[in-house]
Amino acid sequence: MRKKIVAGNWKMNNDLAETEMFLVELKKQVFPENVVVMIAPSFTNLNHAFRSLREHPVKIVAQNMHQSNEGAFTGEISAKMLKSVGTNTVIIGHSERRAYFKEDSAILADKVNTALENEMTAIFCIGEELEDRKKENHFQLIKTQLSEGLFHISDAAWENIIIAYEPVWAIGTGETASPKQAQEMHKFIRKTVAENYTEEIANNVSILYGGSVKPDNASEIFGQEDVDGGLIGGASLKVNSFMEIVNAFEKETGNRT
Ligand code: PEP
Repeated sequence: MRKKIVAGNWKMNNDLAETEMFLVELKKQVFPENVVVMIAPSFTNLNHAFRSLREHPVKIVAQNMHQSNEGAFTGEISAKMLKSVGTNTVIIGHSERRAYFKEDSAILADKVNTALENEMTAIFCIGEELEDRKKENHFQLIKTQLSEGLFHISDAAWENIIIAYEPVWAIGTGETASPKQAQEMHKFIRKTVAENYTEEIANNVSILYGGSVKPDNASEIFGQEDVDGGLIGGASLKVNSFMEIVNAFEKETGNRT
């Protein structure tokens, strides 16, 4: 059965002292049992967060990693390094990595392979630009991102995959896909997985929505049948707003059965 997940992507925010302040507050919170909660601090704070949250049901996630297992890649971080500091999950293919660091589908497919070889879970991000949506090319683009980055993996590997649908036009802009738009795309993604693998795999994969999710819109988005939670940027930087989103499943107003 697929899991409900809320993952906070801190991006390049929060130094050690700020991370520590966040963790102190986070540890005072009561976490719902039916939601997997994740935070993705910067590389430099992963181990600190892992040690600090050892007794708490919060997973520590990396925002990126290199596709090679080791070698002459100055400034890069490997899967083995992440695992050694307590991180078993990694975000791959965030739109900022695709746009600013020129990570194309071939690189992302390699990163997925490296994560899986190292028994890590990959949160694989896909999403269209506004132009694609205006040209009504968004479904085709999502299909291509899925097939080029993910559809080479084995059936068994899907156990370690989470998909995050993040329309680029909604990331950090305050613009959110409507619950209907999110549901429509999530349903399409699930159907595409089913066509390329099996219904069972498609039904079991968690598909998160990301793009300006806030406390006041989370419950309606999470209430959609094929939305299994969120990848949260800006609103994950404050414990209060993050926890309101984590708890938004309880207030679901949508069509989940
Ligand atoms: C993100 O960075 O993945 C994201 C969804 O950001 P925001 O919530 O700030 O739009």
